[in-house]
Amino acid sequence: MENRFLFKFHGAAKEVGRSCIEICATGPEGPARILLDAGLKITEDREFFDDYPTEIDRPDEIDAVFLSHAHLDHTGALPFLNHMGLECPILCNSLTKEVAKLLLMDSLKIELLEKHSSVYNKNNITRVMDLIRPISMYQKDHIKGIWYKFYDAGHIPGSTCIVLEINGKRILYTGDVNHIETNLLHGSNEKFNNIDIMICESTYGDREHPNRESEEKRFLDTIQRTIEDGGSVLVPAFAVGRAQEVLMMLSKRHFGVPIYLDGMAKKVTKLYMQNGASLKDASALEKAWSGAIPIGGWQDRKEVVKQQAIIVTTSGMMDGGPVIEYARHHYFETKNLIVLTGYQAEGCNGRMLLEEGTLKLNEDVVKVRCKVEKFDFSAHSGCAQLKTMIKNIKPKVLILQHGEEKSIKNLASWCDFSEVHTPDIDEEIEVIM
Ligand SMILES: [Zn+2]
Repeated sequence: MENRFLFKFHGAAKEVGRSCIEICATGPEGPARILLDAGLKITEDREFFDDYPTEIDRPDEIDAVFLSHAHLDHTGALPFLNHMGLECPILCNSLTKEVAKLLLMDSLKIELLEKHSSVYNKNNITRVMDLIRPISMYQKDHIKGIWYKFYDAGHIPGSTCIVLEINGKRILYTGDVNHIETNLLHGSNEKFNNIDIMICESTYGDREHPNRESEEKRFLDTIQRTIEDGGSVLVPAFAVGRAQEVLMMLSKRHFGVPIYLDGMAKKVTKLYMQNGASLKDASALEKAWSGAIPIGGWQDRKEVVKQQAIIVTTSGMMDGGPVIEYARHHYFETKNLIVLTGYQAEGCNGRMLLEEGTLKLNEDVVKVRCKVEKFDFSAHSGCAQLKTMIKNIKPKVLILQHGEEKSIKNLASWCDFSEVHTPDIDEEIEVIM
């Protein structure tokens, strides 16, 4: 029997952000329309039409949504789509659900703060939570004639790769994947067989990461030198995954100054500790947590900025959150240090800091006088690991997405054993097999 699959990329096509892939296929129970992830693109000005996947025809007729992990660029559009009529089951594991709930509430708060209005409201988030059907890792089941199974992606706690089976044809969606061992996770070690179509992330499709151990040592040494010179250290970090990784690294040394933790990372860390089985070493995270002091609000912050300290806080790209408040007290002192610990998207404050040495702090753009260092603790596989994974799987069809154009081009020109697609936004790709 001939199968026709239609893939529509509503985002994350030659870009990072707004992952939302629609698949139309006809299974044993008739035609089905599903979504793989439903993400939000966080742009500098949060222009509405840039944020959400708006080209989805009849969201009320979608049969199921599969979520790979909780990050907003994979889940942030769910309340918007619910507002537009989406009412189908949403499948993901319970940790992803809990973390997504925190992130969605926070995203709405930021949107209301910045734009004073949102197309959706809190009820849509509540409804999305009600629509979620918790799925366990490696549990095989089906919906609307589509078989599915979730595998460990090693990207953040609870993150998954998803295999779908429609009429015996197997589709692998990698989500965001990491094969490198970190303090928080083992890294993905999954083997996939007989994959016909692979939808692969390409974030680092054109570059490698530095050696993890030496990067960690350089990170701790740089902080130690700053502390010994009498400076304070500000570590902007993503609340989900990165802040915990940073705390775990910091807990390996004694710096002799307090380590503060601010922003949503506090709640996420608690959720991770309650879900210890999702971590490599739950006791190591507990030790790191007990070595840090959580900050409650602006009054605490006023005290913290008067002291020499290490402050780990959101947001990781310095585009909002408590980090702005800390940076105001931090940037003009040459002995202080700002340590960037993750991907800095085009147009974000952290990228501007790296490229131009300036920061936007509320309305003011300031010239930064403190030291700035960038470290690579990425939760994504580097180019070599992506190639190894693709080579081991050898899919008949490879679709490259979730990467900037040069990353996708590099992987596409390397892969000579599969039919390769590099979709643009809202492009439809038809596969017949
Ligand atoms: Zn992610």
